[in-house]
Amino acid sequence: MKRDRLKKLAAEKRFISGVYNYCDRWCERCPLTSRCLNFSISQEDSSDPEAEDIRNKAFWNKLSETLAESLELLKEGAKKWGIDLETLDSTEDIENLKAKDRAAENHLLSRAAKRYVEIVEDWFKERETLFFETVAAAREGVSLDETLEVIRWYQLFICAKVMRAVRGKVEDDEEGHDEFPRDSDGSAKIALIAIDRSIAAWAAIRHYVTDGAEGVIDAVAFLDSLRQAVEKAFPKARSFMRPGFDSMDLNG
Ligand code: SF4
Repeated sequence: MKRDRLKKLAAEKRFISGVYNYCDRWCERCPLTSRCLNFSISQEDSSDPEAEDIRNKAFWNKLSETLAESLELLKEGAKKWGIDLETLDSTEDIENLKAKDRAAENHLLSRAAKRYVEIVEDWFKERETLFFETVAAAREGVSLDETLEVIRWYQLFICAKVMRAVRGKVEDDEEGHDEFPRDSDGSAKIALIAIDRSIAAWAAIRHYVTDGAEGVIDAVAFLDSLRQAVEKAFPKARSFMRPGFDSMDLNG
């Protein structure tokens, strides 16, 4: 997308500033697509046949072009806000960032969230074929395909958001930030929403499986412990107001 078009689009009043910062990236199911700049950009790009085909050389050229335009915009923004981009990448900064990444990765919550990724993977691997047969036979009204989709959608998302929240908290604690709202609480909140929905999806599956029921209970119990641990580590997360979703009382 050309810079002028991007600027024009970004200036439209219908967009909620930062609505995409604490969403679950599930645009197909989002009630705020018409208010989301990210979504509109992706829609405009996908209506371009060249951008549709990621194997097409033109797509990659287009991407480089967009990157160049974005860098120009970034420079303009940095200048406006008095930020010197040249000084941001010192060796010390990079080492610092790496240390924070390591701390976040090794945190108990991050390791637990990663474990959940494995639990889901193992469960699906062991029982998927049989399970799909059971589901096909049992389907009535409730779409169990969608229930599975919910679990798969959030399987990695939970881990990514928990790690982001932990990473933010490590940084806040180290740097003594005590302003609210905190980005780490926003990340923890969307992780908690994903955990809640995954628990609900597992509970729905529980009614349809006989084989593998223990695995379902284990996954729910694990998620429930993770939920409690995240709530304890981020006591303000549940009350964090996400732009658009919470301010408009939408369940997104
Ligand atoms: S706010 Fe909605 S439309 Fe925008 S990126 Fe997030 S899920 Fe997609």
